[in-house]
Amino acid sequence: MRTQPVPVTVVGLGQMGAALAGAFLAAGHPTTVFNRTPDKAAPLVERGAVRAATVAEAVAASELVVVCVLDYDAVHALLGPVAGALRGRVLVNLTSGSPEQARAAAEWAAGHGIGYLDGGIMTTPPGVGDSANMILYAGGPELLAAHRPALEVLGDPVDLGPDAGLASLYDAGLLGLMWSVFGGWLHATALAGADGVPAAEFTAVAVRWLRTVSWFLTTYAGQIDAGEYPGDDATIDVQVASIAHLLHAGEERGIDNRLPRLHLELMREAVEAGHGGDSYARIIESFRK
Ligand code: NAP
Repeated sequence: MRTQPVPVTVVGLGQMGAALAGAFLAAGHPTTVFNRTPDKAAPLVERGAVRAATVAEAVAASELVVVCVLDYDAVHALLGPVAGALRGRVLVNLTSGSPEQARAAAEWAAGHGIGYLDGGIMTTPPGVGDSANMILYAGGPELLAAHRPALEVLGDPVDLGPDAGLASLYDAGLLGLMWSVFGGWLHATALAGADGVPAAEFTAVAVRWLRTVSWFLTTYAGQIDAGEYPGDDATIDVQVASIAHLLHAGEERGIDNRLPRLHLELMREAVEAGHGGDSYARIIESFRK
């Protein structure tokens, strides 16, 4: 049974903050908003939001306060002076930052009697409000459980446990994963495009391939946790031979091969260390350096 939408406050109305406030409004939450540049509140006020004149007024309006601004310096600049008004409330910080900044913010909040959840939004503003997208939370499983009905209107909440640094750590790592996938996909799309294959046609096949790749990741994660890399599917030696075909195809078509050359370098490192017969997961050791 859906509970009555509780009042919420959103501090920061850039592209992401405005999307968050919009999702709360769409779900019927009485929503108070504040932004350093007040004009940005106008479209939300038209949709029923209350514009607070000061950040203190914004914080006082709701037990649940969501902040999403450029960086942690901006969070502290805005909320540092109203720490007293935040006492006893729950602050959900969806601003991107480092794990160290998140842990320091959690300590600051604890020192002022403020409940603190650190979050990472794993989508862009148009994806906010869609339960297919994840929002990562860390630092307060019990706070997330208590405020889940409100927070799940923003996206599917994923609880990463009591360490407030983990949402930022996952966020940074997952963005790195995204950029690596983008890079591999763009290289491959340029390769296929050189022979006249439209990007959309190639990508339909590439997306299916990513599902198989995700299955490899799950298998390899078990190997990494066990510290054992049996080369019982495809060895690094075999992949060194395979990547030669990719490099050759790229050279023939005048494609920039920096990305596959980096992969070859990592594979060769493992082979030179005597691990050519292991699975690709062994290459984690190059990163651990
Ligand atoms: P944005 O559109 O540039 O908005 C930045 C916000 O921060 C504005 O509300 C701005 O206020 C405020 N701000 C900046 N410096 C400030 C300061 N010193 N004092 C007070 N307020 C300050 O950025 P965004 O896309 O909304 O991103 C906000 C956060 O969400 C970032 O940490 C970003 O990494 C994260 N995020 C964004 C996306 C995305 O796709 N956009 C995805 C995931 C996470 P003014 O309006 O007054 O300038």
